Amino acid sequence: MLDLMQPGLFQPDETAKAADTPFAEIVFDRPLDHAYTYAVPPSLQNQLAVGKRVIAPFGRGDKQTIGFCVGRTEAKPERRVKAILDVLDEHTLLTEHLLKLTRWMADYYLCGWGQVLNAVVPAGVKKQAGTRLVPILDLVPAALLPSPLPHLSPKQKRVLEYLQTHVTPIELRQVMHETGCGGTPIEALVEKGYVRRRSGRVESATTVSQPIGREGEAPAEPLGVCGSAGASPSRVPFDLTADQAAAWATLEPVLQAGGFHPFLLHGITNSGKTELYLRAIEEVVRQGKEALVLVPEISLTPQTIQSFHGRFNDVAVLHSHLHTAERGNHWRRIARGQVQVIVGARSAIFAPTGKLGLIVIDEEHEASFKQESTPRYHARDVAVMRARLENIPILLGSATPSLESWHNAQKGQYTLLTLPRRVADRPLPQVKLIDLRHDRHPDKKPHGLSPSLERAMKHALDARGQVMLLLNRRGYSTYLFCPACGHVEHCKFCDLSMTYHRERHITMCHYCGFEKTPPDRCPVCGAGQVLYQGMGTEKLQGEIEAKFAGKIVERMDSDSMKRPGSHQRVLDAFRRGEIHILLGTQMIAKGLDFPNVTLVGVINADVGLHHADFRASERTFQLLAQVAGRTGRGDAGGYVFIQTMQPEHPSIVLAANHDYLTFAQEEMQARRAHNYPPFQRMARLIVRSKDEKAGNDYADRLAAAFRVELDRRKAAQEPTGLRLLGPAEAPVFRLKGYFRFHFQLHSASSVVLHQVLRAVLPAVRVATGVELTVDIDPQDML
Ligand code: ADP
Ligand code: ZN
Repeated sequence: MLDLMQPGLFQPDETAKAADTPFAEIVFDRPLDHAYTYAVPPSLQNQLAVGKRVIAPFGRGDKQTIGFCVGRTEAKPERRVKAILDVLDEHTLLTEHLLKLTRWMADYYLCGWGQVLNAVVPAGVKKQAGTRLVPILDLVPAALLPSPLPHLSPKQKRVLEYLQTHVTPIELRQVMHETGCGGTPIEALVEKGYVRRRSGRVESATTVSQPIGREGEAPAEPLGVCGSAGASPSRVPFDLTADQAAAWATLEPVLQAGGFHPFLLHGITNSGKTELYLRAIEEVVRQGKEALVLVPEISLTPQTIQSFHGRFNDVAVLHSHLHTAERGNHWRRIARGQVQVIVGARSAIFAPTGKLGLIVIDEEHEASFKQESTPRYHARDVAVMRARLENIPILLGSATPSLESWHNAQKGQYTLLTLPRRVADRPLPQVKLIDLRHDRHPDKKPHGLSPSLERAMKHALDARGQVMLLLNRRGYSTYLFCPACGHVEHCKFCDLSMTYHRERHITMCHYCGFEKTPPDRCPVCGAGQVLYQGMGTEKLQGEIEAKFAGKIVERMDSDSMKRPGSHQRVLDAFRRGEIHILLGTQMIAKGLDFPNVTLVGVINADVGLHHADFRASERTFQLLAQVAGRTGRGDAGGYVFIQTMQPEHPSIVLAANHDYLTFAQEEMQARRAHNYPPFQRMARLIVRSKDEKAGNDYADRLAAAFRVELDRRKAAQEPTGLRLLGPAEAPVFRLKGYFRFHFQLHSASSVVLHQVLRAVLPAVRVATGVELTVDIDPQDML
């Protein structure tokens, strides 16, 4: 059946009303912060609606450019305006809420509204993948009917009456079928000027497979239902633990009443946060509304997805492996109100639901919720804004909440819910810190495993437990070093050392992907022997296979998990006990629930501690606490061994003690003392150029303009609290062949921060060959 009107999107009367509004506001995929007014020719009046894309002449030479219609108006602009050339979409692509949300994003993240819209609507929807073109009929608006009205035959009258009493536009085939008329009377109506005939889009009959939770539908690779692979989540809700019940008692009345209300659910690993999410979603689904669940891409495991499929009928899973057409199909199903629960990574926050009742964000502290290209939004913050716009509750959950959210909870802006104990009174695993300075192999060679960790692994495996090992560095050697002259192989384009990958026998830059065959001899001094130093997951795998002959070892990192489905295959095999030792990068650290894992080893806890990033401690604490949470989830209990050179570092000690509260308290003090978020708002400006001097000059000019504005504000005695740090070379100065300078702007008030940016940026034109990036609430400090 043709479904041209999507319930929940713009109401049908919007189109009717729009017929009298001769002007439209259009935004383009450009960093411009205003809309352009265009005339709407009579022939497009009916087709155009807010939220559709158009083709319009734009810029120098009136280039035909795609833009989004964001408003219609009767007010005649002062200047003569150009006219829209065509309307591209059959349906509006955005709900009214999404339009407001994207408008807010453009303001807040300082980019073009058109850029945001273009990024938010999936390619599959824009390309109309999964649909086909068919002939459709539409009524000619009364004002444009010919006069005098041409005479109609009875058959023609019948068709016209049919059209007048149905929602148009409508598929030609349907009109013929239901009126019993052939093509001739319809053609006559077109010729006489009553009816317009054109091509329109309908959903293809042959839709691609999609991971929708309907029984019998094949889920798409790689993240479907995990089949018979052991412990399937129960379809029957549990009896809540006392902690869960207490949290639920606070949550339930708010869900029933509705209205904007943010919650922060701080629950330690294995405390049953997911169960609370599921109940909360059940409550809003019962009310006939939809729920949106954001998880980090990495947590879109079969396990997570199955727990949703087990409890709800219509689940859409939006992950990055979807084909363009599949994504388009999901979007349209969601827009039609056919989905109860949407589970997805970052961009799922833009799902076009019509009756959203709740947003859940699991692992809300995850940095992957931040998009590192325009629009540089943080999905958690966008989600809170969306909840506010749609006036609904939002539930942020984590075992290690971000300090931003923790701060909001402390201030009372979020209601704090806590699950301080594991389910079934299971103890948290005991954590042992291994001091790598002392716990070394007798042969003094570099080993991934200290003697203590190796012994613990033997014990765990002898007792038929399974082992997980975290090493957050992929590849074989993390750098190539010449002992004769000290040369370290660097990327041709970045200030970063090359990583050796033995399986492919190449060296690779992990930032830009540049690849090179490893040198036979030192390229600088010609010495014959280059040392392969530093340990990555590939080297660790070799060491473990040698030390644990006969045990099955699997590696999970982005190199070994390239093929779709491999992630699921390994996790299924691990669950079935067919793998003894699973090692990997942070890919294995989060969310997984395997009761038979009795030992977790962290090969090097210090990897992230020395980044030039004010969140380095927070990230280290989070990663260690999360990976420690992967064990002790079954009756056999569990241990964690953390290898480190700094066993006294507070992040490491507090993670070992499972002490988030003390960590948060101490880290907050440090942030306050150094004026960092969450006490201050921050914008990071990155200037990059292939021409070092051009970049440097522009950064200096921009900084000078900021100083002038800051001085002006001081002189005017406007409350400032503003600080400008820099410009300086970015921690990674050369990246992908660009020289990079950065500075930071801090203020206690985000409003003031924005005022200053708006005052200065337009006044300092970006020089040729220079690019400027403005990153609001930055996560990436390199
Ligand atoms: P978290 O997300 O906090 O790490 P989960 O929600 O994954 O924890 O729950 C951990 C395990 O405990 C899961 O296997 C889940 O099925 C189980 N579980 C959750 N709530 C209960 C409960 N009330 N009683 C018994 N088991 C529970
Ligand atoms: Zn590089």
